[in-house]
Amino acid sequence: MLFRSLGWLWALLWCGLSVIPGQAQSSRGDLVLINGRLYADLALWGARQGLRSRWNATAGELKLTNRWANLAFKADTARVEFDGTMVWLEYPIAVERGRPMIAQRDLDLTLMPLLKPAKYPAGRKVRRIALSAGHGGKDPGNTEGSRQEKTYTLKLARELAARLKAAGFEVIQVRDQDEFIALDDRPEEANRRRADLYLSLHFNGAGGRGSATAKGAETFALTLPNGRSTHGGSSSGSQPGNRFDRENLLLAYQVHRALIGSVNIADRGVKRANFAELRGARMPAILIEGGFMDHPEDIRRIMSDRERGKMADAIVDGVQAYKRLVERE
Ligand SMILES: [Zn+2]
Repeated sequence: MLFRSLGWLWALLWCGLSVIPGQAQSSRGDLVLINGRLYADLALWGARQGLRSRWNATAGELKLTNRWANLAFKADTARVEFDGTMVWLEYPIAVERGRPMIAQRDLDLTLMPLLKPAKYPAGRKVRRIALSAGHGGKDPGNTEGSRQEKTYTLKLARELAARLKAAGFEVIQVRDQDEFIALDDRPEEANRRRADLYLSLHFNGAGGRGSATAKGAETFALTLPNGRSTHGGSSSGSQPGNRFDRENLLLAYQVHRALIGSVNIADRGVKRANFAELRGARMPAILIEGGFMDHPEDIRRIMSDRERGKMADAIVDGVQAYKRLVERE
């Protein structure tokens, strides 16, 4: 009985009847359930966005391109290369009846915010930037010998603050000295002082797990409501930060793209995590991991004033790119 009713639902979806409330636009015969999740035909979606598709069935690779955008997908992986920058999806690309399919949520909440960024309402601006230098005081963060993460996050925050101010932004330093500030208090400070964006600065550590093999930068947006985090785990319900899901992702992407493009660092992608700092922020917020303290290439970059300066320049470029996309003239 169960099988038959599921089969019936399946047939309905294939016939394109709008049986899913709120999904009418996509219910055009290209929606199927895969592992209980709504998936859409990726090439058809691309065509509606004005993107040409090239599907290599043998390699399981789909490319969607036009003059402005270049998206590359691979079957069974939860990633897209979006104009050459890696962005993680919640669910892997599937192949159904020989056609690549993508979770509807990934279309709505990952691809669309990047492809067609929404403008802010008139009058809303990107002016005041909160910087949260990771760790501090009794919490050193990742430690490699005598090098402590908290030292370098504060250096980067100060270098970034100077550059943001030079570019005309106001800056709120959530941590401006070697002191301990609880995770929840950090976005609270930014909320209280009405920051327009929140940037949390960190450096990674593989923590002895396959030590010295992990390298590169990754940038995090908050896990979606009832969503999947990139490295496992999930979130339940909605957090204050989820009000800005589309903006969080666009900001993460623009900053990450600028970082990867101008600093010679490996691209680990735009990811999602349920970090306390991102949960509590009442403004678009991201967390940047600017390389691994325990990788020889990355630590050289982290310790070098010149290289960190380049990193700070790139982050400013990313913020400027975001600002141009969301603000009205
Ligand atoms: Zn950290």
